[in-house]
Amino acid sequence: GKITIAIDGFSSTGKSTIAKQLAKSLGYIYVDTGAMYRGVTLFAMRHGYVGGEEDNIDGLLEALPNINLKFVYNKALGFSELYLNDENVEQEIRTLAVSRQVSRVATIEAVRLKLVAMQQEMGKDKGIVMDGRDIGTVVFPDAELKIFMTASPETRAARRYKELLGKGEKVTYEDVLKNVQQRDYIDSHREFSPLKIAENSIEFDNSDMGLKEQLDRILNFALR
Ligand code: C5P
Repeated sequence: GKITIAIDGFSSTGKSTIAKQLAKSLGYIYVDTGAMYRGVTLFAMRHGYVGGEEDNIDGLLEALPNINLKFVYNKALGFSELYLNDENVEQEIRTLAVSRQVSRVATIEAVRLKLVAMQQEMGKDKGIVMDGRDIGTVVFPDAELKIFMTASPETRAARRYKELLGKGEKVTYEDVLKNVQQRDYIDSHREFSPLKIAENSIEFDNSDMGLKEQLDRILNFALR
């Protein structure tokens, strides 16, 4: 029968690339939970709750019920895009500006509670591949397959740098490396659901592993 696959790990370890391919191969639904934290962050930035002179977390908390997130499948692209209050924000949430604020927003308990509830609802019927930081520990602790992805910070920053350059962002490799390291630090030291290896997860260091090899190995576990 169908199972739940949880993929966690540090920033830019290639989780979403693997998770997308895995979902495609298995005919499962793919959910990118990082996109949801990014969506809340974009909203917070647009309203000046974060990213300005001073944070206004109380303002953000009050506005939380007005944040409506949904994924809409884009047939042409072959994956789902994030909508924030009915606006397609898929491109905007991937900018370095959002990456610089998102981990702080993700430390807020009320934000996590809201998004975790949505994620549990989306995955209640199994046949799902979900990636994030707390999927195997908090969202689906009973997932049949849990993967924890790692890679060296330099490998990860190089990947993310190439991606951002390809999108025409004016960034340096050093900017990106710093952002990746800062997010890892905040993600693994926060009070609520810090990033850590879930019990029973399989650890994957993909610094020197090609996409096909990773996919084959994970599929092997999924199909056992
Ligand atoms: O996966 P991605 O790098 O897009 O996630 C962006 C940020 O959102 C992470 O650095 C982390 O701070 C936060 N996040 C989280 N819990 C998740 C997914 C993402 O805290 N399940």
